[in-house]
Amino acid sequence: MTTDVQIPGISSPVPTGLFIGGSWRTASSGATFDVLDPADETVLATVADGTTDDVTAAMDAAHAALPGFAATPPRQRGEMLRRAFEAMTARAEEFALLMTRENGKATADAKAELTYAAEFFRWFAEEAVRIDGDYRVAPAGGTRTIVTRQPVGVCLLVTPWNFPAAMLTRKLGPAIAAGCTVVVKPAEDTPLTALLLAQVLAEAGVPDGVVNVVPTLNAEEVVGTAMADPRLRKISFTGSTEVGKILLKQAADQVLVSSMELGGNAPFVVCEDADLDAAVDGAMLAKMRNGGEACTAANRFYVQESVADAFAEKLAARMGAVQVGRGDGDGVGLGPLVNEETVAKVDRIVQATVEAGARVVTGGTRPSGPGFFYPPTVLVDVPAGSAAVVEETFGPVAPIATFTDDAEVLELANSTPFGLVAYVYTADLARGLRLSEALEFGMVGINRGVVSDPAAPFGGVKQSGLGREGAHEGLAEYLSTKYVSFPL
Ligand code: ADP
Repeated sequence: MTTDVQIPGISSPVPTGLFIGGSWRTASSGATFDVLDPADETVLATVADGTTDDVTAAMDAAHAALPGFAATPPRQRGEMLRRAFEAMTARAEEFALLMTRENGKATADAKAELTYAAEFFRWFAEEAVRIDGDYRVAPAGGTRTIVTRQPVGVCLLVTPWNFPAAMLTRKLGPAIAAGCTVVVKPAEDTPLTALLLAQVLAEAGVPDGVVNVVPTLNAEEVVGTAMADPRLRKISFTGSTEVGKILLKQAADQVLVSSMELGGNAPFVVCEDADLDAAVDGAMLAKMRNGGEACTAANRFYVQESVADAFAEKLAARMGAVQVGRGDGDGVGLGPLVNEETVAKVDRIVQATVEAGARVVTGGTRPSGPGFFYPPTVLVDVPAGSAAVVEETFGPVAPIATFTDDAEVLELANSTPFGLVAYVYTADLARGLRLSEALEFGMVGINRGVVSDPAAPFGGVKQSGLGREGAHEGLAEYLSTKYVSFPL
């Protein structure tokens, strides 16, 4: 048994063990690791540090549970997800508080994430009963073809810390709907939300062994062990392109079905005909949602010359007015970033961009004291090729550059190895559509600062990833097609 942790504001204790085969256990080594509160760097909880033996035990459990779960009536799987949606919604405040405590995000962001995360369970509860197939007559006659979809098998889900609930429910929802069993490796900064989710799913009736969770500090070996296990059939990963490439190489050895949600470098384009106030509202969402710690975050702003000064002034006024503090503080719009590495990277990118010639309009200086805080920052006169436009900043920094015409902005926007999402503000719908067709990104928001939607296919092109999450496409990633042929 492991000791659950009582976190003020959360009604029941939060589990801190490994969840394998329906029971909670300590790591086989007995080791644990600390989860910090990023607002003050104090220890929030101590969590079991899973080993390679533990992840193999989780694979054993997932493999043993697969035949029974794959044969469960789809309606039952849908109802498990529906109950989990309702439980998350009923406990929204607690989940939000837990995410604020382990990730640092502001309460409004945590609540928005919880709603978004729960919605994946509702969507896939509805999708579970719509897994279809068909019956075909062979062109030459004489045979029939039955096309059917089956669960892919045991899946490994590796998730990041920026959306501790949503990045997981977006994988768990379709996996459960499809009848797959899973081993989850949550991010080491935010394992508590994943553990609480596992508890909610168990209470919602998900059978033992279907969902197993193995937090660890040793991601490389623990994930590597699962990736080499011949019983694994699929990897679904959300995180950096760098780690995604490592996993794709490992996936090649076993020819695993692979879904990769990797880094982004989203351009936010403001045309001179745009409604500037709407563009600033959209920019605040695209940039400041989750403190900029999102792969969909607007990473660089391209504003047409004639409106660039006005846009920068309005955006800086809004960014500068955001209150920074503990995520659960009154009126706080921006909490701390998740850890020292993240805030140090943001600071390095800002300093390098300023050295390259950019000018700071607001923010730009890391405060001293405990906690991983960084102020909302607007940079103008940002040179092409500088750190803030080339690297994925993952923080509250808005670098602004200008453009003269559509050909130039397309060249600027597309000159990146990444292709997750782009945003365009224009009053001319045809112009917006022309730009959206030419932008080499998997998603485009026209006059919208947020594209994430459980009912829409989320995903990137180029080095931003493979596959889609959410929508019908998200379920298809957990199904394989079989056809049965017979003479008639
Ligand atoms: P981020 O930069 O957002 O932290 P990472 O790609 O480093 O993104 O981490 C995303 C997830 O990948 C986390 O769960 C992390 O523990 C895991 N991870 C990190 N390195 C490796 C690795 N070498 N092999 C497998 N998983 C890894």
